[in-house]
Amino acid sequence: MKDYLIRGASDDGALRFFACITTDLVEEARQIHDCYPVAAAALGRMLTVGSMMGTMLKSDGDILTLQINGKGPAKGIVVVSDNSGNVRGYINNPHVETMLKQSGKLDVGAAVGIDGNLTVIKDFGLKEPYVGQIPIVSGEIADDFTVYFANSEQTPSSVGLGVLVQPESHVSAAGGFIVQVMPEALDETIDKLEQNLIQVNLKSITSMINEGMNAEAIIGEVLKDIDFSIYEKKEIGYVCNCSRERVEKALISMGETEIRDIIETDEKAELACHFCSNKYHFNKEELINLLEQAKK
Ligand SMILES: [Zn+2]
Repeated sequence: MKDYLIRGASDDGALRFFACITTDLVEEARQIHDCYPVAAAALGRMLTVGSMMGTMLKSDGDILTLQINGKGPAKGIVVVSDNSGNVRGYINNPHVETMLKQSGKLDVGAAVGIDGNLTVIKDFGLKEPYVGQIPIVSGEIADDFTVYFANSEQTPSSVGLGVLVQPESHVSAAGGFIVQVMPEALDETIDKLEQNLIQVNLKSITSMINEGMNAEAIIGEVLKDIDFSIYEKKEIGYVCNCSRERVEKALISMGETEIRDIIETDEKAELACHFCSNKYHFNKEELINLLEQAKK
């Protein structure tokens, strides 16, 4: 089964939901960044929520950036998405030593750490992007986004994220859901949802995906006894849109002094994309050309 995302709403209009399976794209991220297990789980949860939040964007060209910068050994994570739900991201320290909770589960909260912020940036191509920020609650990521939606977007939401990493490190299951309560929701529906979420949390989203439950089945558990419809189902993946032109622009924006410095000391430059590790090489002649452009 390829990675995919579904979205829809309860038939009474009280709830809207997103759910996805992200096993392949999280495994791809793990391979690109050589993540150790805790780092793979932390980055994987951010990629999973990023994909779902990306599809909340209305227009093509809108860009969502998620940043979490706790003081834990992961040293911060960045994820970028758009309304296709495709994602890319990186973790500043992919080699976080394995940290376990007493339950034996990977301790993502300790790896991410607290004393920092969760920041959500939505760039609609306007002068100023939308920026929402909350202090990190636990670093477990799902909890942090639940609080973000309540406080910054005034939308009561439940976020469930799961990434299962095998001891030898490969990602065997990943996915998640977001359910949001609309202002017109009746207490009866909210009560049902809350009861269902208690059961879902007991079971844990990771074990549900590991049992082979797909996104539809997970939403079926979250919205048990609530009538709902799926409006859209689409494939999602790990997609980077870097290009030589973008890297050239980044180099030019570094300014004359910096570029001259590179030419004088190294006579060449190799730049790697943060998101996909693609390498871009520039020889002396090409750097001189960029220097000319930086002067303009
Ligand atoms: Zn790239």
